Amino acid sequence: MHLEIPFWNQCNNNCVMCTNPPNFRREKPIDLASIKKYLKWKIGGEEDNIKSIYLTGGEPTMQPNFLTIINYLQKKFPVSRINILSNGRRFFYEDFTKACIALGKVSFIIPVHGPDSKSHDAVTRIKGSFEQTLGGIENILSLRRPDQEIEIRLVATKFTHKNLRKTLDSLLKKFPTIHRIVIIFLEYEGQAVENLKSVRLTYSDFGSDLKELMPYLRKYKNIRLYHLPLCTVSEEFWPFVWRTLGEDEVAYLNKCDKCKVKEFCLGIHKKYLELFGPKEFRPVQTSHALKISDNYHHPIISVEKKS
Ligand code: SF4
Repeated sequence: MHLEIPFWNQCNNNCVMCTNPPNFRREKPIDLASIKKYLKWKIGGEEDNIKSIYLTGGEPTMQPNFLTIINYLQKKFPVSRINILSNGRRFFYEDFTKACIALGKVSFIIPVHGPDSKSHDAVTRIKGSFEQTLGGIENILSLRRPDQEIEIRLVATKFTHKNLRKTLDSLLKKFPTIHRIVIIFLEYEGQAVENLKSVRLTYSDFGSDLKELMPYLRKYKNIRLYHLPLCTVSEEFWPFVWRTLGEDEVAYLNKCDKCKVKEFCLGIHKKYLELFGPKEFRPVQTSHALKISDNYHHPIISVEKKS
């Protein structure tokens, strides 16, 4: 079981496709007492079942009590991995990175929004954020312990999708030892809905961009695709697709009952359906042989043409 702890009260970026509501920032920091209260409400009695913890935002590293909170979580959940979803900017400061690395069983998930400062900073709306984020990734990679992983996320939006190939290419050249790169179709929530005109991207638009990325997917085994219903991409991409949205966030259409891969498909984000309707989704009648895993989140391992 995964546990998400949202630190939505602060962020030092101002991303155009942020899934938080526009006025999510609050002056009051999150302290240990409120974390304990949250845990009791969220997982009271199920502590032993928590495999991994995700600290999300806002920006978790902006909390004045950040290191104290992680220390507490490590003691309370000694076998769980703690994943820090961060914009990476505070890791630009070596002292802070060293303090986080010293905490132990933590991993890092950091989004990058373009191949250069112009494109990245246009998304974060903070000048200089690209330089700090990339510097942060560099610091983590050079200081990390062997069991501490780092994942870079590329969120596909109207702003970023045309640059995805370039961004992926430059990141793989700059950080060849990166553990994982995840390309995520944006979630229409919070400010992403408020800023719909600027971030608007449909699965149909995205499908054609993906074709350019196939050579990278074939070459690097550590690239994943998140938030994609299977019928929105061609079969060759299915082994890279992970089932990543919560059951309460998605819906299936009546026509999905005729789909041969429904049991492996994450479904359609409810807000996407509300905004763009059901036209793009078509039941799949594949004749290919699928190799299936027992991992719920990564069901299709390979797709082979039947001879
Ligand atoms: S038709 Fe429905 S179940 Fe099938 S791939 Fe598309 S969204 Fe998923």
